[in-house]
Amino acid sequence: MSRQYICMDTIRFLMGKVHPIAPLFTYDRYADFSEDEVDLLLGAAKDLADQHYFPHFKSMDEHGVVYDNGEVTTPPELGDIIRATAEGGWIGGTDKPENGGMNLPEMIFGTAQLIFQAANNSAQGYVGLTTGSARLITSFGSQELIDTYVPKMYAGQWQGTMALTEPQAGSSLSDIVTSATPVGQDGSYHIKGQKIFISAGQHQHSENFVHLTLARIDGAPAGTKGISLFVVPKFLPSPDGSLTYNHVFCAGDYQKMGQRGYATTHLVFGEDQPTVGFLVGEPNKGLRYMFQMMNEARIAVGQTAAGVASGAYYASLQYAKERPQGRALEQKKNLGSEQTLIINHPDVRRMLFTQKAVVEGSFSLAMECLKLSDLIHAAPESEKEDHFLLLDLLTPIMKTYPAEMGQKSVSMGLQVLGGYGFTMDFDLQQYYRDIRIMAIYEGTTGIQSLDLLGRKMTIKNGKAAQLLMAAVQRTIHEASTYDELKPQAQQLGKALERMGGVVQHLMPYAMRGELTTFLADATLFMEMAGHVVIGWQWLKMALQAKQDQLSGNDQFADAFYESKVQTMQFFFRYELPKTVGLHRTLTADSLPLTIGQVESALI
Ligand SMILES: Cc1cc2nc3c(=O)[nH]c(=O)nc-3n(C[C@H](O)[C@H](O)[C@H](O)COP(=O)(O)OP(=O)(O)OC[C@H]3O[C@@H](n4cnc5c(N)ncnc54)[C@H](O)[C@@H]3O)c2cc1C
Repeated sequence: MSRQYICMDTIRFLMGKVHPIAPLFTYDRYADFSEDEVDLLLGAAKDLADQHYFPHFKSMDEHGVVYDNGEVTTPPELGDIIRATAEGGWIGGTDKPENGGMNLPEMIFGTAQLIFQAANNSAQGYVGLTTGSARLITSFGSQELIDTYVPKMYAGQWQGTMALTEPQAGSSLSDIVTSATPVGQDGSYHIKGQKIFISAGQHQHSENFVHLTLARIDGAPAGTKGISLFVVPKFLPSPDGSLTYNHVFCAGDYQKMGQRGYATTHLVFGEDQPTVGFLVGEPNKGLRYMFQMMNEARIAVGQTAAGVASGAYYASLQYAKERPQGRALEQKKNLGSEQTLIINHPDVRRMLFTQKAVVEGSFSLAMECLKLSDLIHAAPESEKEDHFLLLDLLTPIMKTYPAEMGQKSVSMGLQVLGGYGFTMDFDLQQYYRDIRIMAIYEGTTGIQSLDLLGRKMTIKNGKAAQLLMAAVQRTIHEASTYDELKPQAQQLGKALERMGGVVQHLMPYAMRGELTTFLADATLFMEMAGHVVIGWQWLKMALQAKQDQLSGNDQFADAFYESKVQTMQFFFRYELPKTVGLHRTLTADSLPLTIGQVESALI
């Protein structure tokens, strides 16, 4: 398959210009890198995606995952994909060299992941989980845990997972009941309980599974303050290299509507015989540690949604350029005239523009987040808090905008194909099925929205929100100096004011402790914030395109720069105005119905 699934020029434009990576190389941590090297690394990632990921996008879906008596058979090609990814350094790349990594900036590593996600989202899930769980061990685990587990994980030989969810504890992790009983003084525990929906929890391409598991040490306090983190291997490794079964039983695999090549397992720990787990860090700090992986995974899920939407965009764009149907409105009665291509119908163009606006706006936000992650690692101490707070605020938006708007954009892509979009002959139906999970796992949209409005907007007396407002204002100010961008700069300023107005309207409820009214429409607030933030990203992209054009920079063709400006104009005309209606709903006290107060009508 040679079809386009991502635009590398857009990636280069974002990383080279809109969110320039070069200033990162002035920090000690990244001083060994250069822009030439970035190009080589991105080229290598794209080659890997072309050769190993994309060719198996469809076949992995068709093969699916088969469970039989504790064993899980995933698509055969997955083994090669994992091996090739490890060989390229794309599992442990960001870690320190002494842990087997290359100290790669998140911007490069995360962008490589985005390329893999766009090429084959199910396959990338396996390697992404190993990266996140190994990094959790290197951040908080003992040297012994690091030495025992991480090299094999980065080599792609052992699969990492995150084992949080239990039947009664999905969104609410405070209700976890899996128990951990101390065995001796060496940090080992007997783990007993069940974890459900564990991605990549069992398959034939890994010698061992390293489950980063949340459990409650006997006698620990209730709620999140009593949760600890454990490494629970499926097989216990001995110094001589042998492996002994640790009684982690895979009791099933969930058959799903999408991501059908990605195993989703039910794991049982310590049912008949003890399962041994090893404490990571200190007792009762497990959820705090796990938030490192969860925050990374939230950005990764948003990226994956954007990647899936990107694949869908290029599939529908290609179709629209090849499919003749009907005539232009002015030619409707002229039956002797040739049929036109559907891309010439304004309604089809509207759908394609929406897709492009969602995909590239989300890519740009992803790059913004990756850069902030790098600055948190590399910038002087005095600046770190600001980067951290801004990233903390943007993370739920990065998870949610691509997941929610990506669904709409893929649905439009399917619509572009008409009846063919609904058939199994084309890829749109797979993208449509695959993207649906993004708004559910790693915290549903409802939970991300509560986090955004209830926590992140108010964190440190609203400092994170102020940092966002100031960053958006800077772009508005700069864009206002170009006549062509002035109208959109003003429009974004008004949307930002509306968002601030909603917060001001809702805050008194929070202060009075009327939390149900404060947070009832958090998801609508998320929708509004998502549109404002993506509007900001589009203005940044258009501004950069203008500056490049005016300075005679010919790295990209004129048509490329023009398409960025036009897609920005599209976003500001068709998408950003949605914030007007959302503002009205979110500040409408006088209406008779607020969903937070109505219980009895849903009959
Ligand atoms: C394919 C797949 C892969 C997964 N992979 C993993 C994995 O690798 N590791 C892992 O640990 N877990 C994994 N999960 C679990 C996933 O994170 C949970 O399904 C998700 O967090 C939601 O939990 P739940 O399914 O129990 O739904 P619930 O928590 O029961 O939520 C149901 C609905 O109620 C809403 N809701 C719940 N509580 C609130 C609230 N307080 N306020 C407002 N609305 C609320 C939710 O938004 C949702 O709409 C996976 C799930 C799936 C389907």
